[in-house]
Amino acid sequence: MDSLDELFNGPSIEPVYLDRSKLERYASCPYKGKHTDDKTPKGEPAQVGSEMHRIVAESLRWECTPDSSPAEYFKEEVAKARPDIQPQVIEAASKIVYQLGRIRPQDILGVEYQIHTKPGIRHQGKEVILTTALDLVRQWQKIIRVDDWKSVRGKLYNVDARLAFQSHFGTDILWDVFPNTDVVEWVYHCTRYGTTAYARFERNAPWGMEGLTQRHAFRARTMQAVRLWMTECEEAWPEPKKCLWCEVAARCPHVKGDAADIAKDPQRFADQYIATQARMKQLKTVAEERIKSGQLHELRGSKFTIEQAHPTGRFSLGVYPNADEPEAEDGDDAAENGKE
Ligand code: SF4
Repeated sequence: MDSLDELFNGPSIEPVYLDRSKLERYASCPYKGKHTDDKTPKGEPAQVGSEMHRIVAESLRWECTPDSSPAEYFKEEVAKARPDIQPQVIEAASKIVYQLGRIRPQDILGVEYQIHTKPGIRHQGKEVILTTALDLVRQWQKIIRVDDWKSVRGKLYNVDARLAFQSHFGTDILWDVFPNTDVVEWVYHCTRYGTTAYARFERNAPWGMEGLTQRHAFRARTMQAVRLWMTECEEAWPEPKKCLWCEVAARCPHVKGDAADIAKDPQRFADQYIATQARMKQLKTVAEERIKSGQLHELRGSKFTIEQAHPTGRFSLGVYPNADEPEAEDGDDAAENGKE
């Protein structure tokens, strides 16, 4: 805005919209939230996911006729996906047709359904609005069900659905938007595998302990993420699994171990992995030959012994804990550390 605009129009009082992805990044690791640029070009898996979601949304909006259902429409349209990534989109959506076939159009409340709530806070004079888009929302009786399509590799399980920030954030807003609805269900559809992960939430049901309702816990989790964003928190909470999935790992000073190596130079990491695998194969052959020749009965490490597997006619190596090592028990550090 130039100075004349400022003079006549005054400072902007546009609200600030915080969407689920932004807050989820802060909730996972504030450093990632602070340093992720929404304008960063998306990698191929994200582009494949977006293209698949676009076709799913079109299919669900498709008006059913006796010879054409959303599932049929999807089959037709997926072949017309963006030509540069069409094979990947088809692969990512390989099990979706069956899932779409099970949705009754009369239950649909909205597709790509944008919801928002105003938690009553301001940031730098601007009202903060929490918002998210839900892939598909259905309603029957007094239950709302959210369907979400996931094209990632790796299946999701019920426990993932129950604990996901996405489930809690979306449910919290839905409870505001539909004050007479207490039950919200989530179904995450894994479109590569045809499996689902399910969670059911109830506004006043306890969450983990008596006296703490789900409503209260989910709102508090959301507001903690908002607080991290408002304070521009830059704390890092590295964990191997988080860092391996992190978009800013390549420029994060806190990333450690394998996640740091692969982020810094994926090609070098792949080369090292293949070389290590080849070397392991070579070492195994040497050990096998040595034991086979009878010159050595076993290769003894400090924790494990490599010897011929018994009983079998075929020769193969087995790895066994050393018989004279003390048995390690959970929480027994002395036993864990052997002779220390
Ligand atoms: S790499 Fe790890 S520590 Fe760094 S921002 Fe990502 S999740 Fe956080």
